[in-house]
Parts: sequence; structure tokens; C-alpha cells
Amino acid sequence: MQVLVSEVGPRDGLQSLKRIMPTEAKLRWIAALAEAGLAEIEVGSFVHPKRLPQMADAEAVVAGARQIPGLYVLALAPNMKGVQRAVAAGAHKITMPLSASHLHSVANIGMTCEVAIEEVGRICRFRDGLPAADRPGIEIGISTAFGCSIQGDVSEDWVFEIANRLVRLGADSVGLSDGTGYANPTQVKRMFNRLQRELGGHAGGAHFHNTRGQGLANVVAALEAGVTTFDASQGGLGGCPYSPGATGNIVTEDLVYLLESMGLDTGIDLDKLMQARCILAEALPGETLYGHVPNSGVRKGFYYADPNAARSTDLLISAEACATLA
Ligand code: ZN
Repeated sequence: MQVLVSEVGPRDGLQSLKRIMPTEAKLRWIAALAEAGLAEIEVGSFVHPKRLPQMADAEAVVAGARQIPGLYVLALAPNMKGVQRAVAAGAHKITMPLSASHLHSVANIGMTCEVAIEEVGRICRFRDGLPAADRPGIEIGISTAFGCSIQGDVSEDWVFEIANRLVRLGADSVGLSDGTGYANPTQVKRMFNRLQRELGGHAGGAHFHNTRGQGLANVVAALEAGVTTFDASQGGLGGCPYSPGATGNIVTEDLVYLLESMGLDTGIDLDKLMQARCILAEALPGETLYGHVPNSGVRKGFYYADPNAARSTDLLISAEACATLA
């Protein structure tokens, strides 16, 4: 069985850092990720550049990423203006954040849930009016779906009311997102089972953070509910502005190792993924990069899920070896 790992580091990860990675380094990193087998990468965010100067080069990064053969280029856009910019830049798919928590929604995108839902409807109508070749996919991740660090509990029925409304408005897929690290495996399995039951082919993937160390346990629970797309970030980049010091997204390297060990084919080469990590480490000196597999290596006798995969496990570059590679 194949599982899609969707890399969000160049967007979710870099936007949470204070420093700005140069466009050239971003594109080198993205190219290395694609070379490692990441087929889908969220490369930037079309928010106002004054709000997120780290993402001010989103047009150039999308345009550069579009040059990489076979890569499916995603960009985040929080509103109509951002969506128009993303379409003009040529993003294949646009992801929109929409929070199930009223307080988080206002804090994060300056819109109440109701206003944000209406905005999705407007955007889907705009998308439908574009020539077929320019029409991007619209994917919504419902953030704080498992709980909110401002509001606390979030009603599951409300999450599914939102999800169903978004599909009726024209969203291609709706996934569930845990940027606060509140989810537990029992809840994850229950909610993704329900998502698939209610949305069918429009049920989207999972976005987990490892804030409380539950990230990979939640992945396994979501797999049991039939989820086949997972967001992750190289080196676990991407914290939460409301939990200073907290670790960020689940780590791509650890996720790939987990999935392949379980016999699920990701198409990703761990050694080449480590080479991409070296580029990241070199571009962000002193930045903490997370991950157990990068530090420990794969277990002796590890093999990929696809026995015919032409991927080597002879070479496993440790984090320290990055220095000699660079
Ligand atoms: Zn995230």
C-alpha cells in the first residue's frame, strides 16, 4: 500500500522561524526534498509580506518549484487576495487554514469561523471561473480540530458541521489538523473514521504536531482509520506561536522510517532525505533540528516496503556527518 508524505517544512517550518531563509537556499532544499522522493511539497504562504516576511518570496519559490519535474506544488493562502496571488504564481494546489476554534480563528487569521467559511465559498466560486488549466485544487485543513490552546475543548460535532459545509461549498478535500498537539490516538481514530464516513472521497489527510510526543502514535491511529496522506516537516521544523519552545510538526525522517518499517510504501529514499537535511542544517546554522532516526540511523536489516525499490540503505548519514558533506 502507498502512503503520501506531504512535506510542509518550507512553509509551516520556515514561517515559524525568526530568520529569513534566502530564496536560493529554499529552492535548493526543495529540489533536494523532491530528489529524495517527496512528491508533494507545501513551498510557501501567500500572506501579507509585512505579517510574515519569511514568506515574502512566495511567488519566486512557487515559480522555482514548478520547474522541478513531477513535483506537485502546494501553497498556503488564507484569503481571496492570497489565493489570487497563488493562482498567478502557478500553485497546483492551495491549502487554506480554517480553525474550528472561534478564538483561534480570530487570533490566527482575523476572521470568525463563519466569515472564514463564507470566504472559502467565495474562493471556490472564483476557482470555478478560471480556465480549466489554471484551476488549482482547494484543500482545507481544519486546525484545532482536536482541541485549542486558547479555547480548550472543541466540539466534534462542530468540526464535522464545518467539514460538511466546506465540501458543499466546493472544497476538494478537507483534512484534520492538530497544530496544538492536543490529539490522542483514540480521538484521532474516532474522528478520521467519521471524516471518511461523512465526506467519502473528499476526506483529506492528517496534520499532526509532536508538541507532547504523541505525533507518531496519532499517525498509527489515523492509518488504522484509513488515512493515506500525512503532513510532516523535515527536522520537525515549525513550532506553535502559543507554546514557546514546543517542538513542531512530526518529523519527516521519523515518519518515513515508521511507514516503511510497517510495510507502507512512501517512495522516499532516507539517505537522500538526509542529504536534504544537510542543506537545511547548512542554511539555518544553530537551528534545532529534531528527529530520532537522523540521530540513530535505521535499524540493522532495515528494508523498504517496496522490495524492488532502488533505494540504498548502505549509507546513512548522521546529523554530525552533515558537516563533512557540506
Ligand atoms: Zn503544522
